[in-house]
Amino acid sequence: MNKAPLLLKNKAALRKFIKSAKKDGKTIALVPTMGALHAGHASLIKKARQLADAVVVSVFVNPTQFGPNEDFAKYPRTLKEDLLVCQEMGADAVFAPQPKEMYFDDRSAWVNEEALSRFLCGARRIGHFKGVCTVVSKLFNLVQPDFACFGKKDAQQLLILERMVRDLDFPIKIVECPLIREKSGLALSSRNKYLSPEEKKEALVLSRSLKAAKDAVAKGKSAAETKKLIAKIIATSPLAKIDYISVCDRETLEEVKTFKKGQKILVALAVYFGTTRLIDNVWLTTPKK
Ligand code: AMP
Repeated sequence: MNKAPLLLKNKAALRKFIKSAKKDGKTIALVPTMGALHAGHASLIKKARQLADAVVVSVFVNPTQFGPNEDFAKYPRTLKEDLLVCQEMGADAVFAPQPKEMYFDDRSAWVNEEALSRFLCGARRIGHFKGVCTVVSKLFNLVQPDFACFGKKDAQQLLILERMVRDLDFPIKIVECPLIREKSGLALSSRNKYLSPEEKKEALVLSRSLKAAKDAVAKGKSAAETKKLIAKIIATSPLAKIDYISVCDRETLEEVKTFKKGQKILVALAVYFGTTRLIDNVWLTTPKK
């Protein structure tokens, strides 16, 4: 069994840990999370462990990325269990601050990405990515990592953070990590905890529709046909309520009307089951010929 990670609850303790790691010449990998850790998060920590000498996992349910009618209050908080996952995966430190440690009441400086954030979840959750970019920037400033691992599960978030790092010259390598699914196909998510057994079963239409989309694109179907196919499969679940379906270019996140040959695209969706909003996606390249 690995050593238990150091639990750091405030910025001063984190800074002390980082200062000492840097003094020892260690490279650092950061895995930002909101906790309620599952095998998806674990895979990011494993990757971080392979990349760097010191691994820091942050566990922080970030209030600024939740809208007023979203699930901030009820978001699962399971720090004790999270620490065990971090230990199992070999993390060295877990930074788990309270909101008041991270934000001043009169905070007035933000980090905002203005292009990719206009689409997909950004269009449906106004201010969400401003909260994400701000908290990730703060974590980057505090941890000063060499690497930061993010999952393709949150495709738009990953692409926005890559843009942020590029545009603001953060000296950090963003590491893209694969989306981890249950055997059933359901993408792992902390929010799956909200689903009733029936909703969870029905939620399999998401991965099924994306698998069908992948096959359709490979066979040369158009963007419109692909989108229609996804909607049709999701409609087979009476519990599913589509928030959006997007077939977009992976550079710009703009909807694709006509595929170019060998175009890197993202097929992404957000669907409600009851009050639970799930997202899922697949990263594809259109046929080269
Ligand atoms: P969250 O705690 O949901 O904010 O996610 C923290 C990090 O874990 C993000 O980089 C997510 O993309 C990543 N993540 C969440 N679910 C998965 C998954 N099923 N597979 C891979 N990465 C994931």
